[in-house]
Amino acid sequence: MDKQRRKFLKIAGATALAGVSAPAVVKLTSSPSFASSGQGAAADSHSTAKDAGGAQHDVGKKSIRYGMVIDMRKVYGKPELMQKAVDACHTVHNVPDFDKPENEIKWIWTMPFENVFPEHSSYHTSKITEDNEFFALCNHCDNPPCVRVCPTKATFKIEENGIVAMDYHRCIGCRFCMMGCPYGARSFNWFNPRDHIKVYNPDFATRTRGVVEKCNFCAERLPLGKEPACVEALKESGALVFGDLNDPDSEVRQLLDENPTIQRKPALGTKPSIFYIV
Ligand code: SF4
Ligand code: SF4
Ligand code: SF4
Repeated sequence: MDKQRRKFLKIAGATALAGVSAPAVVKLTSSPSFASSGQGAAADSHSTAKDAGGAQHDVGKKSIRYGMVIDMRKVYGKPELMQKAVDACHTVHNVPDFDKPENEIKWIWTMPFENVFPEHSSYHTSKITEDNEFFALCNHCDNPPCVRVCPTKATFKIEENGIVAMDYHRCIGCRFCMMGCPYGARSFNWFNPRDHIKVYNPDFATRTRGVVEKCNFCAERLPLGKEPACVEALKESGALVFGDLNDPDSEVRQLLDENPTIQRKPALGTKPSIFYIV
């Protein structure tokens, strides 16, 4: 059994212990009783520590907080590898493919450095940041503004694991969450997405016109002991590492301990769960 497999069986076990079985994830994502009040970690009295990027995260909590480290060094000059991750995610999650950019639905995508990290842009940019695009996806913020502004609790934080989830059936398409998200991580279905799915996956729910969607951190795969699809797609490269930020022995925490990382717009206080090594 390889290291990655062992790691995810451990995560799956921890998830099950937290009461999040595969059917339970469906239940969790459809139950308003699990909706966050939106206060998130802001109201949390547990101790916190600063990560290498300067943002705070909880260290004393027993609950899981899923996060991801994106080691961009492993994909510089490899746009086809980055596209592989995007394709894996979008295929697994029935993400529709619209021709016009204004109708685009995206769960994970790539952008120039200055768009992903506008606060890091400078007059003299490095060749690396000029020549490469960078991954972007939902940050599964510990203090998510999208959750606070949603009037129906169609988007909510699962307190047991930190995932910011969606209940598509409760979404009324008001798009407040899109205005609330400072990362552009949410997409709105202006048209029926079911007509634009290239390869249909019967194991994942399709959405309807008038509904918002985004990355769900592969909440449906984790209890099955599977890695997120994007992580699995880039497994050989090790560019994407997923795990429990609250577990000091996890690979993500080890990467954070050993490498300087940056986050997207940390000054906003959203406490993203995605960390970049650039
Ligand atoms: S990145 Fe945006 S959509 Fe994702 S949790 Fe943060 S505020 Fe919400
Ligand atoms: S579009 Fe849907 S998820 Fe977003 S704020 Fe409105 S109801 Fe909530
Ligand atoms: S974690 Fe899962 S849902 Fe999110 S971008 Fe990766 S594959 Fe897509």
